Amino acid sequence: MELLKQRILRDGKSLSKEVLRVDNFINHQLDPQLLMAIGVEFARRFSYGRVNKILTIEASGIAPAVMTGYCMGIPVVFAKKSLPKTMENPLVSSVHSFTKDTDYSIIVNRDYIKKGDRVLCIDDFLAYGSAAEALCEIVEQSGATLVGIGILIEKVFQGGGNKLRERGIRVESLTRIEELDEGVIKFCE
Ligand code: 5GP
Repeated sequence: MELLKQRILRDGKSLSKEVLRVDNFINHQLDPQLLMAIGVEFARRFSYGRVNKILTIEASGIAPAVMTGYCMGIPVVFAKKSLPKTMENPLVSSVHSFTKDTDYSIIVNRDYIKKGDRVLCIDDFLAYGSAAEALCEIVEQSGATLVGIGILIEKVFQGGGNKLRERGIRVESLTRIEELDEGVIKFCE
C-alpha cells in the first residue's frame, strides 16, 4: 500500500536492525485519515471471505481493526491482555514478545467469537509471528473459521509471515520490510 509505505518512510523511525517506531501515526498519535484508508484496503482485500467478525489485540491493533470493521459493517473484538474479574471460562492463548522478552496471555470472552463465525485477524506488526499465532489459536479454540490475517507492517526478515503462510493461512500485509538498520528502512520490491 503506497500511502502507508510513504508515511513510514517520512515518519517511521528505524532505531536498530530489529525495531521500527511508528508512534507518530499508528502506535501513539493516530492518523484517522490514514487508518481509514487502511480499513478500506483490508475491506477490499478480504471482501471475498464472508467475514463477519474482526479480532485484534489491545492496544495498537484496535484503531486499524475498528476502521476495517466500519468499512465492512461488522463488529470488532479485541483480545485483552489481563483477565477481567467477571469473565468466566474465557478463550486464552499465550504470546511471546521478542521486543520485550516477556510472555503474556491474551484473553477473549467466548460470547464474542463463536463456532460459525468467519474471522479476520488484524494487527499492526508481524515480526516472528507469536501474536498472530495466538490470535489464530483463539479462533481455533472457539470453533470459528479463520479467513485470514491482515497486517499493516510485516518485517519479512523475522520470518513470522512465512511460518503462517506455510500453514496455509492467508496473510495480507499492506507493507513488507526486507531490512532495517539505524536510519534505514528497506521495503521488499
Ligand atoms: P510478533 O509476535 O510477530 O513477533 O510481533 C508482533 C507484535 O509485536 C505486534 O503486536 C507489535 O505490537 C509488536 N512489534 C513487533 N515488532 C515491532 C516493531 O518493530 N515496532 C513496534 N512498534 N511493534 C512491534
